[in-house]
Amino acid sequence: MSNIEQGISNRRSNYHDFDIRYSLFDILRFKNELIKSSMNKEVNPKNPIRRLRIIIHGAVQGVGFRPFIYRLATSLGLTGWVVNSTQGVIIEAEGELNRLNTFLISIEKDKPPVSFVQSLESSLLDPVGYTVFEVRKSEASGDKTVLILPDIATCPECLGEIFNPLDRRYQYPFTNCTNCGPRFSIIEKIPYDRINTTMAGFAMCGQCLAEYNDPMNRRFHAQPNACAVCGPRVSLWDINGASLAMDQEALIKAAHAVQDGFIVAVKGIGGFHLMADARNDGAVRRLRRRKRREDKPLALMYQIALFSPGAHCAGAPAD
Ligand SMILES: [Zn+2]
Ligand SMILES: [Zn+2]
Repeated sequence: MSNIEQGISNRRSNYHDFDIRYSLFDILRFKNELIKSSMNKEVNPKNPIRRLRIIIHGAVQGVGFRPFIYRLATSLGLTGWVVNSTQGVIIEAEGELNRLNTFLISIEKDKPPVSFVQSLESSLLDPVGYTVFEVRKSEASGDKTVLILPDIATCPECLGEIFNPLDRRYQYPFTNCTNCGPRFSIIEKIPYDRINTTMAGFAMCGQCLAEYNDPMNRRFHAQPNACAVCGPRVSLWDINGASLAMDQEALIKAAHAVQDGFIVAVKGIGGFHLMADARNDGAVRRLRRRKRREDKPLALMYQIALFSPGAHCAGAPAD
């Protein structure tokens, strides 16, 4: 290893103030070091292959970060691996210096939109001769410092599937992908892998598993991946816990129950919502009595397209 490469090795950069400019600056500096390194006469020009080890801390699990790294590395012809650890994402990539340089810059520039890089450490090492790039099984040991993401609202692509009668996820309410879906509510321990979530009990069907294993699919390693065949289902229960309906029929009957003045407890991914028809005085009064909430305003659900508070709400302008 040359002196310059030794200088690059074991570099460490922390962005305590989470300012992305620092990381970009750091990458540009690293780029210059790589260029200098590749021009150094001590480096054998016939063997410009190096191994880059990167440790990324931040909100980088459950957001499609490993699939993103896999696609990026394979598109650049790099070999090595990526793994989720309890501290973040660890990457080893082997290839020509200029490709490693592009790799590092692209990680920052093209990373998944909902991910958040808190710090990035990189070191340049001698190659060990990896032949493929692989997504390795998560490491469960070590300090647990990775950030857990919140639940993310259903993305436009998933919504498109839910409302497409020709899609196999038509009307399936638990549709999700690496860009959306539950995270915080289903995680029981880290690293964020299906086995460590409440989805562990739902074995994926053949089609879901194929998506999960396809690096080019947006559900590649989407931990809560599911469909109507293999995933959780919606059911409507009466006050005694007896099941009245399943799936789409359960949703329709629940809507009718609200219209008929019943209070419906909807179990979501983050807890229960008690729902009643805001226009039905009797239902609202019953809800207030049961909740012992006589005066405090209740949250109002409204279809955005029809939102017109003046038409349906009475109150002072400041309310
Ligand atoms: Zn989605
Ligand atoms: Zn399935």
